[in-house]
Amino acid sequence: MGLRALISVSDKTGLADFVKGLHAAGVSILSTGGTAKAIRDAGVPCTDVSEYTQSPEVMDGRVKTLHPRVHGGILMRDTAADREELSGKLGGEPIDLVVVNLYPFAATVAKGAPFDVCIENIDIGGPTMVRAAAKNHARVTILVEPSDYAGYLASLPAGPDGSERAKYALKAFSHTATYDTAVAEWMQSQLCEGRSAVLPLKYGCNPQQKPASVRGLLSPLGPQPLPFSVLCGTPGYINLLDAVNAWQLVKELGQATGLPAAASFKHVSPAGAAVYAPLSDDMLEVYEAAGKQLSRTAADPLCSFGDFVAVSEVVDASTAALLKIEVSDGIIAPGFEPEALEVLRAKKGGKYIVLQADADFAPPDEESRTIYGAQFRQRRALDVITDATLANVVTAKKELGEGARRDLLVAQVAIKYTQSNSVGYAKDGQMVGVGAGQQSRVDCCKLAGRKVETWYLRQHPKVRALPFKPGVKRQERINARVRYIEGDMPPTERAQWLTNFESEPEELTAAEKSAYLKTLDGVSLASDAFFPFRDSIDVASTRGVDYVVAAGGSVGDPEVIAAADQYGMTMAFSGVRLFHH
Ligand code: 5GP
Repeated sequence: MGLRALISVSDKTGLADFVKGLHAAGVSILSTGGTAKAIRDAGVPCTDVSEYTQSPEVMDGRVKTLHPRVHGGILMRDTAADREELSGKLGGEPIDLVVVNLYPFAATVAKGAPFDVCIENIDIGGPTMVRAAAKNHARVTILVEPSDYAGYLASLPAGPDGSERAKYALKAFSHTATYDTAVAEWMQSQLCEGRSAVLPLKYGCNPQQKPASVRGLLSPLGPQPLPFSVLCGTPGYINLLDAVNAWQLVKELGQATGLPAAASFKHVSPAGAAVYAPLSDDMLEVYEAAGKQLSRTAADPLCSFGDFVAVSEVVDASTAALLKIEVSDGIIAPGFEPEALEVLRAKKGGKYIVLQADADFAPPDEESRTIYGAQFRQRRALDVITDATLANVVTAKKELGEGARRDLLVAQVAIKYTQSNSVGYAKDGQMVGVGAGQQSRVDCCKLAGRKVETWYLRQHPKVRALPFKPGVKRQERINARVRYIEGDMPPTERAQWLTNFESEPEELTAAEKSAYLKTLDGVSLASDAFFPFRDSIDVASTRGVDYVVAAGGSVGDPEVIAAADQYGMTMAFSGVRLFHH
């Protein structure tokens, strides 16, 4: 007896030639309404499924093939018992080939069709047949792609072998999986509100990258909420990358130290991070925050000037007052006191982004992303930084006081959420230099080290005494101080720079800078991996570093430990590499 095919396709591309080929090879054909008409139009005979099932197509095609004779015919195993049940109990015939492609759901949504039209375009009988045939690929061939018709015809009269049928089955399950994902994502976009909604973004990384959106994951339990809700503003793609990274940083840092933590992110790396530590009056003056009412969390955002701020605790009015004057795009925190929210909502003419993090949010242990058509999956970085990270001290000097421990934890957690390679320097509970995204580790140390120098030299008496004119804005003052410290201005820039001052400032000489930097000590350094050579330790020694945490595990470890011993540093090996991308 010849083969029997069941054909039901929305996309009728290549159908005429295909059915002519089947007919010529003696394959008999069952088909549904529109497909049957197209087959007959091609001059090929076929039997209507409704005739085979003795059950009419009803409800405008909603029920066409959902019938035991159809599914028995597809799912029948090649056993005497199944054959007997199919022909005896169901009155059906074995089906050997299923050719189905589904209602064009995604295209209908893309056209902007109304809700009920989209619903009508959710195929029911099609996926059921596709899945049944794919499951029973031991006997049945399933084709979901017109481009596979020619290959099938070439395999006749025998038909594809078992391994080819399995490949067609895999393709079929992939077809229905993407179809159902499209349906679920569309329903999420239509029905979900708040944190479970699909959040459209103005654009992606760049304005030409449209459309862009972010959504909570679809899971067996339904659409999951995003880890935050938007209280104010329209966040962009990079804002949200910053926000989710910065939030993880402050949450982990808060837990590691037991102190309120804050961070400021730019381009998915921290520009600053800190835990609460009282600031001296001197430092308050250097940060231009003297006389401000500072609460426990309010001291932290001072250290960083940046785009996206994260705070580990509920933001109070004094923190909001500090942020009011900072150039910043947005903030994420677990909560906001009403007065603080009012201040932040008024910032940037109402465009300041305020995100409320869900402090109890538990992301899945596995994460994935696609880049250039490749899907990457990995277990999340679940190992959290704790006091135990500093337990293995490998240098001759073993002492780590409370302040050093705190600063090493600050630096290590900050570096965990910094684009690699990365190292960071911390002092007095705050990051004072972050070196992100360098190919060589010693370059990270130098880059971040330069920031440490600038940070420290901002406290130099000559810098503090710069005679600014009254009208110079805060950000201009900050920039002018940095250029004064760097001291490498070409004449045109210098002429412009001088317009900031009442009188020409006296130069800060290289000798003065170097003498002042020698007074810097007690700095902590963390690395996201091992130091391959002693050069990084040599660089660190010139930036007041007394404490180090690194992964360890390099063949260069003995050399690195010897260098740390020479400088009298205390160094812990965490045993954990913390690359982040
Ligand atoms: P036709 O053009 O032959 O009338 O319809 C073909 C389409 O109907 C195919 O996309 C197929 O997946 C779909 N289809 C087949 N059986 C059923 C059914 O029982 N219910 C629904 N909703 N769609 C079906």
